[in-house]
Amino acid sequence: AEGGNRFAVADPDSDARAISRHHLTHHLPAALKGCEFFIEYQPLVKMSDGSLEGAEALVRWSHPRHGVLGPDRFIPLAEHTGLIVPLGRWVLQEAVRQACEWQVRGIGARPLRVNVNLSPRQLHDPDLVQDTVAVLEEAGLCPSSLCLEVTETALIRADDRELRPLRQLADLGVGIALDDFGTGYSNLANLRRLPASTLKLDRSFTQGLQQEPADPVDLKVVEGIVSLAHTLNLSVTVEGVETSVQAAQLRELGCDSAQGWYYARPGPPEKLPEAV
Ligand code: C2E
Ligand code: CA
Ligand code: CA
Ligand code: CA
Repeated sequence: AEGGNRFAVADPDSDARAISRHHLTHHLPAALKGCEFFIEYQPLVKMSDGSLEGAEALVRWSHPRHGVLGPDRFIPLAEHTGLIVPLGRWVLQEAVRQACEWQVRGIGARPLRVNVNLSPRQLHDPDLVQDTVAVLEEAGLCPSSLCLEVTETALIRADDRELRPLRQLADLGVGIALDDFGTGYSNLANLRRLPASTLKLDRSFTQGLQQEPADPVDLKVVEGIVSLAHTLNLSVTVEGVETSVQAAQLRELGCDSAQGWYYARPGPPEKLPEAV
């Protein structure tokens, strides 16, 4: 079409990468108003018996021109502009409503839990506690059926004032998970001052356990982290479980819950009941 003896290879991936940050940033507010975001849910599985325990809510942007964009493409931009606060509130509201629906339908052996990611910026939102309580009350969801995931990096940087809202929510029964644990170089003794109930071990720690025999150093490291977490009364969830070998090793090491492609990929809410 361009004339001459030319050809071009269309690569949707690199096309997507080429959409400018400026363009995306500019369209975020309208996308939120226009309901272009949707949530996929990835099952959380209890390791001792393989039962469905809950799901993590993962947001996506269905861009009218560029297709479905993953959160890594737009969450940092939303963080930067502050739009993460209303976007995060929408995710929370939608995920809590969904959890309620699953519970009413009796999905899972116990009441299902929903995990929602919280950006560092949301920790500074003065309405965080009030909004979260209002969302739970409006939906009629028990606080213990909600878990907020905050990255280890965000939490270790937080001072006592910034931790206060999380502590208030934890006191109400909301679970707090330390996300991507192991990537933030926590001072381990410092873990005691955080209002966390769960430690989510980053995928990078479980990669060495994909093959048999497992990397012996990785085994020892995970074993050590699990033992430390349990000493501090934290449960351990492992991310990025992709193989049955990995799942077996991690169960053996005493991990409490797991999430990963081995069990199920993130998917629409209708898929959750039959996902595991
Ligand atoms: P995350 O919280 O660490 O979420 C886990 C990511 O790992 C997800 O990527 C998930 O699709 C992917 N994953 C799950 N199982 C496997 C596996 O077995 N193997 C591999 N290789 N990957 C796996 P996703 O959905 O692209 O999300 C990326 C990040 O975006 C999340 O990382 C989270 O930090 C952020 N995010 C997602 N939704 C929200 C949200 O609503 N609010 C905020 N603030 N951040 C969000
Ligand atoms: Ca997460
Ligand atoms: Ca994570
Ligand atoms: Ca991760």
